[in-house]
Amino acid sequence: MPKKLIRKELLAQRRALSSAERLLYGQAIQCRLFETALFRESRVMGLYSPVRNEVPTGDIFREASSRRKRVAYPRVRDASLEFIEVSALDDLDKGVFGILEPKKGCRVAIAEFDLLIVPGVAFDLEGGRLGYGKGFYDRVLGDGSFRGRLVGLCYEMQLLPHLPRESHDVLMDVIVTEKRTIFTEEPEAAL
Ligand code: ADP
Ligand code: MG
Repeated sequence: MPKKLIRKELLAQRRALSSAERLLYGQAIQCRLFETALFRESRVMGLYSPVRNEVPTGDIFREASSRRKRVAYPRVRDASLEFIEVSALDDLDKGVFGILEPKKGCRVAIAEFDLLIVPGVAFDLEGGRLGYGKGFYDRVLGDGSFRGRLVGLCYEMQLLPHLPRESHDVLMDVIVTEKRTIFTEEPEAAL
């Protein structure tokens, strides 16, 4: 099935989630992330502000802040994303597409992150990711300067066995759903 059709289908399914489901699953997903060494050991992370029923991230911000990790949020600049360090959720304001973005603050280069947490419309078991079709994350990560780990957050219903993949598509290292935490890397690749 082409990317476009999968997006449409899965966005409709995600839209149909009730607020109670979002809250319950959202808490479970964020708690699962806290259990990973990746999160515990992270010092500088990129996070996102959820829109359109994406997995919530408020608990992650609070947990990371209380552990004195640096957290940056993306904002859209010239068809790309730049990341700005945020010290309080009040620093976020509505930007392009109605997404809460940092208004001002210090820019964090992609190379500084040890963890980047990304939303998605769909993911697959090999770490493949489908976004809204604008390739923002593919583009910002495409220059090869990112040295950290990529974590995709999604509800179990957004997880498919295999998504169409193009050469520019970046792969997630970890995917967290309310039911499981999937480490997608081949053991050999981790050596
Ligand atoms: P998404 O990842 O949002 O689902 P796609 O993977 O379909 O979207 O990418 C959308 C478009 O973004 C691609 O057709 C391509 O033109 C552009 N794109 C993605 N990655 C890059 C890149 N690294 N450099 C330049 N353009 C890119
Ligand atoms: Mg892509």
